[in-house]
Amino acid sequence: MGEDGSCVVPLLDLRVEYDPLRERVLAAVDEVLSSGRLYLGPQTEAFEEEFAAYCGASYGVACSSGTDALILALQACGVGPGDEVITVSHTFIATVAAIALVGATPVFVDIHPQTYTMDISQLPAAVTARTKAVLPVHLYGHPVDMGPLLAFTRSRGLTVIEDAAQAHGARERGRPVGGLGDAGCFSFVFTKNLRAYGDAGMLVTSDRAIAERARRLRDHGRSARYEHVEFGWNARIDEVQAAILRLKLPLLDGWIARRRAHARAYDEALGSAGIATPFEAPDVTHVYHQYVVQVDDREAVRAELARRGVETGVHYPIPCHLQEACRGLGYGPGALPVTERCAGRILSLPVYPELTEEQRARVVTSLLEATASKSMEEQRV
Ligand SMILES: *Cc1c(COP(=O)(O)O)cnc(C)c1O
Repeated sequence: MGEDGSCVVPLLDLRVEYDPLRERVLAAVDEVLSSGRLYLGPQTEAFEEEFAAYCGASYGVACSSGTDALILALQACGVGPGDEVITVSHTFIATVAAIALVGATPVFVDIHPQTYTMDISQLPAAVTARTKAVLPVHLYGHPVDMGPLLAFTRSRGLTVIEDAAQAHGARERGRPVGGLGDAGCFSFVFTKNLRAYGDAGMLVTSDRAIAERARRLRDHGRSARYEHVEFGWNARIDEVQAAILRLKLPLLDGWIARRRAHARAYDEALGSAGIATPFEAPDVTHVYHQYVVQVDDREAVRAELARRGVETGVHYPIPCHLQEACRGLGYGPGALPVTERCAGRILSLPVYPELTEEQRARVVTSLLEATASKSMEEQRV
């Protein structure tokens, strides 16, 4: 809320996306409801094909959430009790929870201080005889350095599952993420860059056996109508969500271009004022699910921005390894210094596609003033 009680620039505004799509969305919903086919129907199948192709993968298995996509991928790749999976702590908790929920043990490596993604140079020291897989996260929409990662995992026979929940359409050396490892997992929850109206997710892969097993697991381990070859659960996507996601998919590249344009404008205005702006490696396409800067005394800056009507986020303030849920894993403060330092300084600015130039200017001015007034206070002390 601003001083006048209004939030001038929200972190995300779903209504401005919905307004121009309203009629098409309602028509798609009506078509599905009229058909009477509410899951595992033609919309799901078509969306799986279209999104897998978008990722450069052969198969798509649509499911109920990004979290389920991760669990399906891990299980379909044969990860289970006794296995270790190397991942990062600087991520949404679902990445780590999925590993634990299939009975495997998460092992953390630190992140690269500029890209906020897995520091590949730490992999060799983290591998043990029990390591089964590596689970990199394309956090904020910046691709992990997959070239060296894949060279390393191939040499050790390790499985690679990408968490691409924040990175639809991001590219590494021209190739879309999600299709680079053995399986890639996406979320279409309504806050991600490609949004359902609720929850949805997908696993993509070019490995037929992984796709078939994931397809079975998502529907009660079913092989035929009344036959169940293993225990699965209900991780299906609704036809309604699939139909909506299909109509939005062709718009995704345009939305990404707008996010990137906002990022360039922020880079210019904030970088020249000495604020630590995001890094984009030369051979990647960052899709800016989040535009993350670093500031001193973050909570004061956030409060000042809020006072000026600019909503911000923190992704994420408490690293996974320091969460109560991870206590049994044995990592304490100081275990992952880069992750811990970033967690205290990062600030996510509004970067949704429909953000206007005026709103963007408001964010810039507010942030520059908030950080400047802070350093003046420091001078006075
Ligand atoms: C959102 C997200 C998930 C989980 O996706 P849901 O659809 O919310 O279950 C997993 N990993 C990362 C990095 C995410 O951002």
